[in-house]
Amino acid sequence: MTVVKEPSFRESTEIMFNRAVRLMDLSPGLVEKIRICNATYRVSFGVRLRGDIHTFTGYRSVHSEHMEPVKGGIRFATSVNQNEVEALAALMTYKCALVEAPFGGSKGGLCINPRDWEPHEMEQITRRFAYELIKRDLIHPAQNVPAPDMGTSEREMAWIADQYQRMNTTDINARACVTGKPLSGGGIAGRVEATGRGVQYALQEFFRHPEDMAMAGLTGTLKGKRVIVQGLGNVGYHAAKFLSEQDGAKIIAVLEFDGAITNPDGINIEALKQHILATGGVKSFDGGTYHADGGPCMELEADILVPAAMEGAINLTNADNIKTPLIIEAANGPVTAGADEILRNKGVVIIPDMYANAGGVTVSYFEWVKNLSHIRFGRMRRRQEENRHRLLMDELERITGKSLSPEFRQDYLHGADELELVRSGLEDTMRGAYQAISAMLHSRDDVTDMRTAAFLVSIARVAKSYQTKGL
Ligand code: NAD
Repeated sequence: MTVVKEPSFRESTEIMFNRAVRLMDLSPGLVEKIRICNATYRVSFGVRLRGDIHTFTGYRSVHSEHMEPVKGGIRFATSVNQNEVEALAALMTYKCALVEAPFGGSKGGLCINPRDWEPHEMEQITRRFAYELIKRDLIHPAQNVPAPDMGTSEREMAWIADQYQRMNTTDINARACVTGKPLSGGGIAGRVEATGRGVQYALQEFFRHPEDMAMAGLTGTLKGKRVIVQGLGNVGYHAAKFLSEQDGAKIIAVLEFDGAITNPDGINIEALKQHILATGGVKSFDGGTYHADGGPCMELEADILVPAAMEGAINLTNADNIKTPLIIEAANGPVTAGADEILRNKGVVIIPDMYANAGGVTVSYFEWVKNLSHIRFGRMRRRQEENRHRLLMDELERITGKSLSPEFRQDYLHGADELELVRSGLEDTMRGAYQAISAMLHSRDDVTDMRTAAFLVSIARVAKSYQTKGL
């Protein structure tokens, strides 16, 4: 089917879902059950601020409850609306199934520009929104567990967790009501970086699959690859930082809301981030060339495009001009269904959002488990592991009469702390999910793109879950 008019984000998600589901042998009733969004709660509430009452509107949408709790971020942005929240909730269902996080899909949003309000005002607004959701069990450790998304961070999650605790003083699992909390408030090491880190692991895994690289006409490794990043927020910053500092990729363009920076020799991402934090934008950064109209920078010659800002960034107006052979969707829904078709026809390989940015929900899953078990990962085993390693090394030195190098002793002795365990679990998850997608892609002649392959893997899992329940 050729898409001639730009569909909405929700329509795009449904077009992509329908394209995949047509290749499956599922009853129409079950397909409809999986596709449909179960419920959306809309609330308007007033908060007294600056001597007047201000009304805010928010949503929490539950897409699928084939597993509970349901999971999905809370977004603070002026663009938030019911259709967007429902599309994002659906994506969460498929994403969780793909990375085998035992959750149904949900999403929330509040129509607000966080830049318009002081921190203490944001706290009042966030707590009030949380109150509305908590009293309807739309925030609950066993039923619905939010996380950060666009415009929200650890700070808002800490307020939400505290609000839940105040309203449920005897709930011993209260901290598991939300993930993405600060470490001091029941969070987990590695959650802030998790989505960007997941993008890095996804790309590393792509470059371990020669048959997928061949589809994009790419060779070699990530080293030296030219990368364009749109959005240097939580996801884009961490992805760009890890890809450039650890994998040797060159970030040749960064697009932000106030323009773009380009540098063919590679942008120093940490320096640019510090500049944004200090000045509020990329303008006047001296480590590259500034372009007030950033949009065209997405169309530069490069190897990899990482849209990490918002949905619909690559659409019918610019898809034809995109020159990168590989796109990894770090944001949710950055490629519209129309653009997707154009890009597929051009042979561009797209690593889809439901997989590419699943690092966040994966580590959120670890955080939720940590909260329910009331103990930090590695606490019981770390020193015991070190002692056993020491025993082995001492015995090896005694038998051989030779000394191991101090560096090797140090590396081998070291027992894993929480951050290392989280990264290991995340890498394993991202690699496993990639392999499932790639295997699906190469095992069927009628599947020619990664998005469809990812949908097939995840829809089959959701369907199985419903069938097991007897639906
Ligand atoms: P964020 O608010 O931290 O960052 C978004 C960045 O994009 C900001 O720096 C903003 O200035 C920039 N931006 C806004 N409009 C832009 C424009 N027109 N052009 C260029 N840049 C623009 O948000 P985030 O948490 O990094 O989320 C980004 C995307 O990733 C969203 O689609 C979100 O749903 C998705 N995502 C986030 C997480 C997470 O853990 N935070 C997890 C999964 C998916």
